[in-house]
Amino acid sequence: MGPAGLSAAEEAAGRGLSVVVVDPRPNAVWPNNYGVWVDEFEAMGLADCVDTTWKRAKVQFTEGEEAVCLDRQYGRVDRRRLKKRLLDGCVRSGVLFHAAKARGVSHTDGWRSCLQCDDGSELFGCAVLDGTGHSRALVEFEGEFDPGYQGAYGVMIEVEKGHPFELDTMFFMDWRDDHLEDDPDMLARNASLPTFLYTMPFSETRIFVEETSLVARPAVPFPELKRRLVKRLDKLGVVVKEVIEEEYCLIPMGGVLPRMPQRVLGLGGTGGMVHPATGFMIARTLGAAPLLVDGLERELARARGEAAAALPTGTPREEVLARVDMGEVTARVWEGVWPAWRLQQREFFNTGMDILLRLGIDSTRSFFAAFFKTSTYNWQGFLSYRLTLVELMGFGIEFFAVGDWRMRRFTTVSALPGLVTLIQKLLTSGFSRQVGITEGADNGVRWKRGEGGNFSAEMRNSLADKEKELPRMTADERP
Ligand SMILES: Cc1cc2nc3c(=O)[nH]c(=O)nc-3n(C[C@H](O)[C@H](O)[C@H](O)COP(=O)(O)OP(=O)(O)OC[C@H]3O[C@@H](n4cnc5c(N)ncnc54)[C@H](O)[C@@H]3O)c2cc1C
Repeated sequence: MGPAGLSAAEEAAGRGLSVVVVDPRPNAVWPNNYGVWVDEFEAMGLADCVDTTWKRAKVQFTEGEEAVCLDRQYGRVDRRRLKKRLLDGCVRSGVLFHAAKARGVSHTDGWRSCLQCDDGSELFGCAVLDGTGHSRALVEFEGEFDPGYQGAYGVMIEVEKGHPFELDTMFFMDWRDDHLEDDPDMLARNASLPTFLYTMPFSETRIFVEETSLVARPAVPFPELKRRLVKRLDKLGVVVKEVIEEEYCLIPMGGVLPRMPQRVLGLGGTGGMVHPATGFMIARTLGAAPLLVDGLERELARARGEAAAALPTGTPREEVLARVDMGEVTARVWEGVWPAWRLQQREFFNTGMDILLRLGIDSTRSFFAAFFKTSTYNWQGFLSYRLTLVELMGFGIEFFAVGDWRMRRFTTVSALPGLVTLIQKLLTSGFSRQVGITEGADNGVRWKRGEGGNFSAEMRNSLADKEKELPRMTADERP
């Protein structure tokens, strides 16, 4: 399992639920090189799962122009350590592992689901969480799956001394294109489908460099990304001695959400949690796992309690459980993970993604120049999913005010269809029914201005408080 499946399993087992993780290779090392804003990981108590940090990040738009310095620490996730920590937690809490692939799921009655595996085995449980990432093995999506794609080709390389990257600074986005001047065709392709360089410098001789297409539909092909990266490294004078690791990154972004409600639960890639305007997800996923599990535990306890109350004292456990409506339980869990403000926020981010999909290199530069000129609260909050719709509107006004005329012109033109859709969705019955949901577990737990990004810490504290109030299940009460 990836971060979503393992964090949910650890959390659920830690709360006394019986959990089986189905994963063909439970001990495999995660393949992705994850980058995060350090404050997000610190807030979740995961600072020790970041192996390298950079004091700041920077963004450069054109050659000769001064780079924009982002005063926010960035880090590389220690994927082995994070996975081990989650696995250890799972093992300590009694999670069982079944080495197989999930092939399908059926819901045998009101309270039980049956997971079919590719080794012919069947597992029964009251709830199934699909943590299969972008494979989306079990969760069903609302309508046609129509995302944009973030495509990136990255390499961890050993290089000759003298590379141009400062070791205390993560190069978040390098939009320069002067390295393509001797190749007019590639320069033109980059002008319409721009890519940037994302660089993590680890030492004087080791760097991770990734040529990234922020979002495109269809994705920029890997061979093109690779050619652009080679030309860029040549221009920067980077002499590669050895390629240690290659990363082919394709992240579906935005588009439709999982159908809500449905009996199968989703988190991370299957939960529609990729940031539609950045492709980031890991912090949001790890922060959402306790919310999801909290909702499941609470709703199970409630449904069981109600079922038991309607039956004579001493009714056998199986009979009580047979009265539990897991359709209702999982519907409430979905609501908790996707409360009204999250749905509105995602719709706004989708509008942002739609704008990005239309931009060539010059407008992309103007876009990000304006983006990083907005207040720290706004740009950091936007990237870390903290802003409510009202705050996002404020962000939009500020973004518009600080941008240049090019940015204002194309934003007005490009954003109009998205804004019309957003307003339509707010007004139509389907979306207003969804945004009418007010009982989401994270509705009342919000990041506060000036508290340095401790959204998830707050969530955890709040959950810890809630936990004290919750009736705990004893071993024989577990469904
Ligand atoms: C190359 C790459 C780089 C990324 N970098 C970042 C980053 O820097 N920062 C960030 O925030 N986000 C990043 N992302 C986005 C996102 O955080 C990751 O995709 C993240 O791994 C998603 O977590 P997940 O647990 O949902 O899915 P995954 O990590 O994809 O895990 C899914 C797991 O399910 C297993 N599986 C698949 N099918 C089945 C099945 N049928 N039965 C059983 N098991 C199955 C897979 O083997 C895998 O172990 C990146 C994504 C990619 C692809």
